[in-house]
Amino acid sequence: MTSKPNILLFSIDSLRRDFCTVYNESEKTTPFLSSFSNDCHVFQKAISPSIWTLAVHTSLFTGLYPREHSINDKDQILGDHPTIAELATKAGYTAKSFGFNGWLRQGATLRGWEHTKTDPWPLPDGLGHYAKKIYNNLSRRTFTHKPEDEHTISKALDEIREINEPFSMFVHLQGAHYKYRPNYTAYRRFSDGGRRMMYSCSKKQQKVYNSKVGRYIQNDMTQSEREEVLNMYRGEISIIDDLLSDFINTFREQRPEEYENTIIVLFSDHGELFGEDGIYGHNFSMNDGLIRVPLIIYDPINAIDECSQESIVQLNDLYPTLSRICGFDAPGTNSTDLNDDREYAFVHYEAAQSMYANMLGEMKEKNIHKDKIPPRELYSIWKNENTKRVLDPNQNKLDKDDILVSRLNDHLQSLDRLQRRGNETASDEVLDNLREMGYL
Ligand SMILES: [Zn+2]
Repeated sequence: MTSKPNILLFSIDSLRRDFCTVYNESEKTTPFLSSFSNDCHVFQKAISPSIWTLAVHTSLFTGLYPREHSINDKDQILGDHPTIAELATKAGYTAKSFGFNGWLRQGATLRGWEHTKTDPWPLPDGLGHYAKKIYNNLSRRTFTHKPEDEHTISKALDEIREINEPFSMFVHLQGAHYKYRPNYTAYRRFSDGGRRMMYSCSKKQQKVYNSKVGRYIQNDMTQSEREEVLNMYRGEISIIDDLLSDFINTFREQRPEEYENTIIVLFSDHGELFGEDGIYGHNFSMNDGLIRVPLIIYDPINAIDECSQESIVQLNDLYPTLSRICGFDAPGTNSTDLNDDREYAFVHYEAAQSMYANMLGEMKEKNIHKDKIPPRELYSIWKNENTKRVLDPNQNKLDKDDILVSRLNDHLQSLDRLQRRGNETASDEVLDNLREMGYL
């Protein structure tokens, strides 16, 4: 066995912290994660550097805040700054990633990872594009559960049975991202409603979530429909919990020595809103339901201090932390090692221009008044749930004498923007995926 520790990262997209049993005992969604957490660091104050997939993962892989890496839309390419996977490869690690979210195949965010796009129906490019469209349409109409995560876990498991050490692996799970279509058994774990109830609420969910105005500005979701959408979300989370149980138990049983030399990090890139601030989804808000995330680390080599579980930490802090643990030659960043003190967390949000432009078009079509236009940019400083500030730079009404506002301004002014490497054009398949998720 090598002395270099392995890294295994699980990103559970859109998993809201207070919907995990380990953070909220009244939720029964994640029994496996709860028992696994007994042997882990469970971070109580983990804050994401942003509120959506592309910006957050780019920060996590570079240690740069979103305003620094400047990746906030499709077609942009990350500039010259080594990703964690590039650092790992340089240090002799194998670096493999698994998932199918279109954002993660944009902007060179996955640069350095040998990526497997986990597609349960791999078809030749041209044909696959049309076949996928038909499939998506059919499965939407019949409310069929999307088996992509099952496929991702199975591919990653095949790899981890064989992979050479030292390795770094990134696995992205998408099931808890809207729109939710759990299988009926998983839905019934949380709802007394029958199939008819699930179908009618799925329909309503499609109606609200397929429109940007519906998600962010106005919708007619009733309280009981919202409850059933939450139950579908819980169902999806419980499916992921089962998949994680399969993966981690199999790894532990089949490769016990390697397991005890692997730092396993489980996190969500952001939370999710269900009507808070009038929003469904994850945009245009710095609500704690979005920015506070679950972060659980299995650390068999005792590389992280126990007390850091109670400290403020950010997902981008994994970059210096994992670099220190694994001996990567990482450049200095404004992120903080989990073992060091961090006084505040900072969150950056800039809406993807493509999504924002589409939303404005839809607002015009539906005659929605301009004063309903959501903020295009938001920044936040966070100390605890009661001590935070949110800055909308286009409104700029905050009190400059306020210490938190002044710290937030200092933070933003201290950051340099990394020059992007230019542009790329998203493939039809990626565009379909972004469209299916409701971004385009
Ligand atoms: Zn996400």
